[in-house]
Amino acid sequence: MSSTPSEQNCYFCKVTSGQADPFIFENRSFVGIFDTNPVNPGHALVIPRRHVVSFFDLNEEEKSDYFDALHGVKSVIEETNFAALYPSMMAREDLSDRPMDHIETVLELPFLGNKPDAYTVGNNDGREAGRSIDHLHVILLPRYKGDVENPRGGIRNVIAERANYQRR
Ligand SMILES: [Zn+2]
Repeated sequence: MSSTPSEQNCYFCKVTSGQADPFIFENRSFVGIFDTNPVNPGHALVIPRRHVVSFFDLNEEEKSDYFDALHGVKSVIEETNFAALYPSMMAREDLSDRPMDHIETVLELPFLGNKPDAYTVGNNDGREAGRSIDHLHVILLPRYKGDVENPRGGIRNVIAERANYQRR
């Protein structure tokens, strides 16, 4: 297969071709990895093998494989010992020049050994929505009781000043 210049410089094309993060899951259309800058224990990404920019550009085959990938990655998250995962991630040769502060912070969290209590499933579908790499990557973020002071509203809070449900 030929690749365009944008794919040649795409970090997630490097991932899906097996040249970066180890897969924790794979099916016909998607691979799963643990994020190396986790915001919570088990923070994972579901990434199409094909260089697809937007969720809305997935083809029929990819759409039919999407939920299988989400369920597969969720199962791996729930079976993983994060107290062992993150030290081994910190020892990875390919990450040796990267800051480790996210991993160090996650290792200190009081709920590191817990099973997730909930999930945030998200995709920043466009630069204005916060996407920094233009290859679809759906975030499967385990959530834990107490991980934020008040989780009410969830992803509404990306627009914090209008997120609050409490009205007079
Ligand atoms: Zn790509």
